[in-house]
Amino acid sequence: MPTLGIGTWQNTDPEECANAVATAIEMGYRHVDTAQAYDNETAVGEGLARAAVPREDVFLATKVWIDQLGGDDVVASTEESLSKLGVDYLDLLYIHWPAGEYDAEDTLAAFDDLYDEGLIERIGVSNFEPGQVTEAVETADAPIFANQIECHPLLPQDELRAHCADHGVDVVAYSPLARGEVFDIPEINAVADKHGVSEAQVSLAWLREKGVTAIPKATSETHIRDNWASRTLELDDEDVSTIDSIGRTERQIDPDFAPW
Ligand code: NAP
Repeated sequence: MPTLGIGTWQNTDPEECANAVATAIEMGYRHVDTAQAYDNETAVGEGLARAAVPREDVFLATKVWIDQLGGDDVVASTEESLSKLGVDYLDLLYIHWPAGEYDAEDTLAAFDDLYDEGLIERIGVSNFEPGQVTEAVETADAPIFANQIECHPLLPQDELRAHCADHGVDVVAYSPLARGEVFDIPEINAVADKHGVSEAQVSLAWLREKGVTAIPKATSETHIRDNWASRTLELDDEDVSTIDSIGRTERQIDPDFAPW
């Protein structure tokens, strides 16, 4: 899985969304993250089609919403996602939240069927707590490839990351810029000044140092390019320690149905 992708939540203007996806892919991004609930799969598919890069070179992920997690609905809604995205397979299909109609046995059996049929290449979970990760790993026949969770310098998720590593599950960080909150943190400002880069790049490079894939959402070409530049930013041990020392654990995303 390419370790830097582009997120698309709240990119609901179809032209803006398609343009952001196409711009990112043409810049070199090879990982695109969407979800049924973002109401933009058609626009994401349009961006994918517009970019002069073959489908198979892009790692495309979407997520099944919590009201579609009953077995039959998983299959029907995924077929709809494929149709909207204009593709015949997904690289990664996530269970968006362990909530609503989620039932480990029933939901994962349907994900296994999609996997066996070749409609999805990998099964992912999102917003799963440690016990739910273990349960999913033990319940699904196919491997659980990734857990997509909120993760950034203000929510490092050390325990959950270690638990995922112990179970062979990759971590994908959502809201990797803490939705802008990382821009005003003195420790991050200091590391950014030291390297002459943006705070966004520091946050993304810190996640890379932790072995975590990041999917920052960006709309403008300037932001898309700034985030892409984080790939060449090398943080040293002192930088990483400085960021680790921030010591905050603040969530940006905390709906009523969250499992924590
Ligand atoms: P984020 O990526 O932390 O922050 C996005 C915000 O930062 C946008 O306002 C964006 O502005 C701005 N931005 C991006 N790059 C920037 C840069 N280089 N400099 C300054 N500002 C910059 O937050 P997020 O959208 O919540 O999370 C990222 C993705 O994770 C989502 O889009 C979605 O794909 C996924 N996600 C998943 C879940 C889940 O439950 N699984 C939950 C939340 C998010 P512009 O748009 O104007 O460029």
